[in-house]
Amino acid sequence: MPSQQGLSGVVVKIASRCNINCSYCYMYQMGDESYRFLPKVMAYAQVDQLMERVSRHCDEFKLAEFDFILHGGEPLLAGKPFFRKFVEKARAALGTRVKLKFGVQTNGVLLDAAWCEWLNDLSFHIGISLDGPAHWHDRFRKDHRQLGSHARTVAGLKAAQLANCRLGILAVMDAASDPLELYAYFKGLGIDYLDFLWPDYHHDKPPPLYAQRASTPAYTPYGDWWIRLFDCWFTDRGAKPRIRFLNQLIFMILGIDTGFESIGQEENRYLIVETDGGIEASDYLKACGDGFTKEGMHLAHHEFSEVYASPLVNMHRQSHRILPHVCRQCRIRQVCGGGHLAHRFSAESQFANASVYCYDLMKLLTHVQNVLLSHLSSGTIEGAGLAPTTYADALKSINIVK
Ligand code: SF4
Repeated sequence: MPSQQGLSGVVVKIASRCNINCSYCYMYQMGDESYRFLPKVMAYAQVDQLMERVSRHCDEFKLAEFDFILHGGEPLLAGKPFFRKFVEKARAALGTRVKLKFGVQTNGVLLDAAWCEWLNDLSFHIGISLDGPAHWHDRFRKDHRQLGSHARTVAGLKAAQLANCRLGILAVMDAASDPLELYAYFKGLGIDYLDFLWPDYHHDKPPPLYAQRASTPAYTPYGDWWIRLFDCWFTDRGAKPRIRFLNQLIFMILGIDTGFESIGQEENRYLIVETDGGIEASDYLKACGDGFTKEGMHLAHHEFSEVYASPLVNMHRQSHRILPHVCRQCRIRQVCGGGHLAHRFSAESQFANASVYCYDLMKLLTHVQNVLLSHLSSGTIEGAGLAPTTYADALKSINIVK
């Protein structure tokens, strides 16, 4: 049965290679080798097929808006003419009846004044991947010569700020780092939009701090890191950046938002299109094994709504609703939604596990909810149907006694 909901957009892998070589990358470092067989840059024939499929999809679901997020590898490797052609083709196919949004996620290394002017002219929102000061960023984000990329990324960021680009920062959290130092660093750079991604590991490849010492209800370094960041950010009375994960978490607890790919109740409404025109569920799932995301779906043969029926796409779309047994008992499942699908994986049980970050999520989510409760009026608390839930209560609901 096709889903009743259309896509919000597509993440288009316009370049399948990268000019740097981050050690935690889910594309190249977690066992998936399928990128080796892909064209380095998407051909215009594939862009034409993409626009035809998107156009029909927008008609089928009567969509008024559609997002194109250009991604890689490193998308700027596709070159400026590609970006212009891509936007022209999208506008020609859809522009009169669908509001189009264009975004690009870049490591920032190639970003300079000319690129910024070009992207502004095409109305792109720019996401720059920057993990913090050099001593944190360069631990993982090195180039192919093993040289840190921090200075080049920050130069790209400064060029974007100088050109008044619409931009945000995407950082991968490192629980060994000091979140307060990172927060001060990004504020000092004048960043208005910021997000931290949970590193993409799962039960067979545990996150670095669980490689030597297993996660337990008392050992939650990732949750503790987020709690320190939340407390600092929440009590900051000055001008402060929007931190997407925390903003959405608050809105979800208040019943205003229903979540996104990482947590919540929302259907995942994005698909990936590879440089060869292959259509896939989510690039983060590449961390689950070689070729894991390949289900034989292609722009040449399938409408996007036909792709919904393939098992991994369907699992990813419904990941906050198709929950493992343990999550179905969990007192905070409405907010957590079992976390990100990729973090539940093990070869033995596939996705029938709680998140590898389960205790971290539980501790963080109950903490945020209880801090909010202590700041809200009784009317608001009643209206949102909120009740205090401690970490111990949440653990008890899945039969764990702290
Ligand atoms: S906190 Fe753990 S058990 Fe509860 S929904 Fe999230 S992953 Fe599942």
